[in-house]
Formats: sequence, C-alpha cells, structure tokens
Amino acid sequence: MAVVGGSAAGFYTAGLLARAGRDVRVLERAEELQPAARTLIVTSRMREMLGAAGEVAVVNEIRRFELFTDGRAATVALAKPDLIIERAKLIRGLAEQAQAAGAKVELGRRFLKLEPNGHELALAVERSRDGLQEELRAETVVGADGAVSRVAQAAGWPRQETVPLVQAIVRLPAEYPANTVRVWFVPEDTPYFYWLIPESESQGALGLIGEDGKETRRCLERFLERKGYTALGFQGARIPAYTGWVPVERRVGNGRVYLVGDAAGQVKVTTVGGIVTGFRGALGVAQAILNGGRSRELGRLRRELNLHLLIRKAIHRFEQKDYSRLVDLLNDAARESLGVHSRDEAGRVLWNICKSQPRLLLMGLRGLMTRGTVLRTRT
Ligand SMILES: Cc1cc2nc3c(=O)[nH]c(=O)nc-3n(C[C@H](O)[C@H](O)[C@H](O)COP(=O)(O)OP(=O)(O)OC[C@H]3O[C@@H](n4cnc5c(N)ncnc54)[C@H](O)[C@@H]3O)c2cc1C
Repeated sequence: MAVVGGSAAGFYTAGLLARAGRDVRVLERAEELQPAARTLIVTSRMREMLGAAGEVAVVNEIRRFELFTDGRAATVALAKPDLIIERAKLIRGLAEQAQAAGAKVELGRRFLKLEPNGHELALAVERSRDGLQEELRAETVVGADGAVSRVAQAAGWPRQETVPLVQAIVRLPAEYPANTVRVWFVPEDTPYFYWLIPESESQGALGLIGEDGKETRRCLERFLERKGYTALGFQGARIPAYTGWVPVERRVGNGRVYLVGDAAGQVKVTTVGGIVTGFRGALGVAQAILNGGRSRELGRLRRELNLHLLIRKAIHRFEQKDYSRLVDLLNDAARESLGVHSRDEAGRVLWNICKSQPRLLLMGLRGLMTRGTVLRTRT
C-alpha cells in the first residue's frame, strides 16, 4: 500500500501499518526530509501515543495558561503538562520509527493522480529529480498530503475550507515564565485568539488564527508592536477549518483510498490544533485497514471533533463583553476542570464546567442560538 505525504500523519500511519506486517511505501514530494521548523503546542496525549519518537521533539513543558481580555486576567493550572514540540524533529523521529518497522520512504515523489486498474489502483507520480513520470500500483492508498490534498481531489472528496495561521518567533523578556502560555481574546482582530508559546526561557512563538490571510498578518504585526515584541521570523500556512466529519474512506474501482491528518480536516476547530487529532485519525485508519473496516478510534475522534465544532460555533461571534464575562466567570471549579482534563477530552471538560459553573454553559448556548451559528471561513 502507498501513503502519500511524508509528514506527521503520514509517517505515523506508515509505522502502524508496517509494524502490523504490511508492505508500505511512503511517497513524499520533498527531495530531502527537511520539514519547515514550527513551534507547536500539544497535549500530553501525544506522549501516550508516540513514546520515544515523540520525546525527541519535546523542547518545553507548560504548567499554566494565563488568559487575558480587556484588562482582565484568569489563570488555569494544568494537572498534566502540555508539551511544546519542534515539528521538524517530530517528523524525523516518526520517519525513523516507520523505517525501522519496515516502511520504505521514497523522497522526491510528487503524487499526480490515481485511477482504477483491474483489482488495484494506478498512481501517477512525478520524480522531482528529472521530472519523469512513474506509474505505481497499490490496492490501498492513504492520503496524508495536507490541507490541500491532491489525493482527496483525485478520489473525489470535496475541497475543504481553510483558515490562515501565522506566528512570529520572538525573544521573551527576562521575567517571562517559561512554563506559561499566554492567551489574549481580542474579538475586533480575530474570532479565535492570540497566543504566546514559550519554546525556551528566551524564545517563544506569538501568533493568531484569522479569517483573511493579509489581514491576519497585519493584525499580528500591530499586536507585536503594542506588546513590544520584535519578530525574529515568521511561520505560517493555511490549515483546515473543520466544518463537519469527513468520511475517511472511498472506493475507487476495486481499490480503497483513505485520508488522515490535515487531508481529512482532522483539526480541533476551537484551537486549530491538528497534531494529536491527526495521529488519532491515522490510528483509526490503520485500525480500519487492518480490521476489515472497523475502528473504535474513528468514532471517538468524530465525536471529539464535533464537540469542538459545537464550542467554536458557540463562541465564534463572541463580543468583547462576552469574553469579559467568560474570564470573570472562570471561577476556581471551572478552572480546575480545564486544568485536570486536556483539550483532547473536550467532552469531560464541558461536563465538569456545566456542573460547576452553569452560567458558562448558558453563555455558550446563548452564543450558539443568537449569533454563533455561522463559521465564516475562506479558502
Ligand atoms: C504555523 C503553524 C502552527 C501550528 N501550531 C499548531 C499547534 O500548536 N498545535 C497543533 O496541534 N497543531 C498546530 N498546527 C497544525 C499542524 O501543524 C497540522 O495540523 C499538522 O502538521 C498536519 O500534519 P499532516 O501530516 O496531516 O500534514 P502536513 O504536515 O501538511 O504534511 C503533508 C505532507 O504531504 C506532502 N505532500 C503534499 N502534497 C504532496 C504530493 N502531491 N505528493 C507527495 N507529497 C505531498 C507535503 O510535502 C508534506 O510533507 C499549526 C500549523 C501551522 C501552519
């Protein structure tokens, strides 16, 4: 079988399938395995899923979130630390693990199209070295080729919506606590939020998710200036905006095509985090391939992503007064609930918050019913 896309979700899928004894080749368009460096934050669930391959990428641990809006502040302590990871190290670690399990990694191979061919699929692939086209055969193809997936397009999935994400690498002031993430809700700039993630005692990533690419970059530059930070560099790309579950499997002739990670839109739309959910999607697809279509993980992931969508819809049109009340209402019990459960357990977090602080739920429901039902995104 062929996995298209040698990045986080693709190498993880390849490793799982190769460990189960399947013959797997990974086709990656880049000629060398030098993924763009990015500072990312993930929940500790990554540690449980990846073990050693993930550990090499961990550069810092987060114990606290500080939330700010309109002169107000709230602090949430985390029972289990969140992890700051360096994406390039993570991808190399996963590639090594997949290769050690027997997967073949073929670099400089750009997937172009696929079509039915007898009991298999024929894949057209371009060699970047000399531009020559090759034809490959596989019964099963896994598309792990990111937000603008060519595999998805070739197999007939509709194009997904995306949002721009941009972050600046900044030098941290001496007094900045290296175990703390800061979040600012500024609804006139973004329906999401600004974050500052420290990757070490001296450096961090300050960014935001927006709706329009150029405007998002302008907002970030203004915010950096207001807070007195100088950008040492920028990192950014468009990432999928989850608007509903994307079925992960399609039949093409007698072959099967699956999608994992960003290609399947497996991104939490509350925070637009896609690393852990992409791994869970990869695990689900590997289970489905190995168990004749059955996967419990895919059902759990679908419920989780839908819950994040519900929360996002509720808060997407929050105005300043709503955020001010939200931060005020984050009383001790609600803060504890956010801290004890990671953001990959949205259901339990919500249930605990509802029990301890029903007014928060009421606010969310009001947001959902009055103005939050439209998720405006642009491709
Ligand atoms: C600046 C930034 C910050 C982020 N921060 C966070 C964060 O803090 N936490 C978090 O959880 N998530 C974060 N995300 C989202 C996260 O990075 C993605 O969800 C995740 O990396 C997706 O991984 P993937 O393997 O599905 O896709 P990708 O990493 O996009 O990999 C796709 C791979 O497919 C290859 N490919 C594409 N087309 C072809 C083709 N035709 N043929 C062959 N190969 C092809 C590409 O070269 C690439 O290697 C962030 C994203 C950005 C841009």
